[in-house]
Amino acid sequence: MFENLQDKLNNAFRTLKGKDRISDINVAATTKEVRKALVDADVNFKVAKEITDRIREKAIDRKILISVEPGQMFVKIVQEELTELMGGNAEGINIKGDPAVILIAGLQGSGKTTFSGKLASLLKKQGRQVLLTACDVYRPAAIDQLKVLGEQIGVEVYSEPENKNAVSIAQNAVSHAKKSGKKIVIVDTAGRLAVDEVMMKEVEDIKTSVKPSEILFVVDSMTGQDAVNTAKTFNERLDFDGVVLTKLDGDARGGAALSIRQVVEKPIKYISTGEKMEALDSFYPDRMASRILG
Ligand code: GDP
Repeated sequence: MFENLQDKLNNAFRTLKGKDRISDINVAATTKEVRKALVDADVNFKVAKEITDRIREKAIDRKILISVEPGQMFVKIVQEELTELMGGNAEGINIKGDPAVILIAGLQGSGKTTFSGKLASLLKKQGRQVLLTACDVYRPAAIDQLKVLGEQIGVEVYSEPENKNAVSIAQNAVSHAKKSGKKIVIVDTAGRLAVDEVMMKEVEDIKTSVKPSEILFVVDSMTGQDAVNTAKTFNERLDFDGVVLTKLDGDARGGAALSIRQVVEKPIKYISTGEKMEALDSFYPDRMASRILG
């Protein structure tokens, strides 16, 4: 994960590490290299500039030039700023209502269905009664995919293959959950290859009709800047509560993880690191910053 960014940052730090004394010229040059490493990793230029400006200010405030281990202090400042950039504290999901509804949205192929299964499995392990709902009325294969996952993890999947109205399927799923004592309904929605009006309207209508206590936007981290732009569009329409970053096991450059929080002002809540049902983690900004710094 983020090996390239890790290498570049470590290279940037090399001029400072192990030195007893450094000059403000060293700090300025290193800060510039950090900025370049972030931009190369697909971090939005404005975000990269803001964070590196803050790093330099902190370096001056903490008088690192006259400190005992200036290199280490500098790395610590970068770690703090990366953590802050990714949201500071870890944030959980809201589970409220009877049943509570969790709406999953995102583009096709982003990993929504896989994530829906993973989340259901996680909640089931916590002893909760979960119902998965297949609301993709355009791709019959999506219903089958969710059914296979449901069977694998032992969670019921609600679907209506003949019904082409996603809103009514979601409503019926909620009624079914009430009758069958399920406390959480996870609604997996349809996704398109690009954002389009019909899809946006449909997912908005589902939101209005079943009033989810949590809306999670799922995005493929390998898509870099596009991930950030898609997040912005979905957020404007849905005002979602959190982000799920998928495919972090691939060679994502890291930009999405680092920029999304800043750009949409919503926390990343989960990261997905593989196709298996177990490959899901809560997102901890400080741990991710440590990983990036290696
Ligand atoms: P959806 O169209 O948004 O529902 O996306 P899917 O859940 O069908 O996922 C699309 C493809 O990505 C599938 O082949 C999944 O197995 C795969 N996938 C999903 N999440 C991950 C992940 O975190 N890592 C990897 N490597 N593959 C993933």
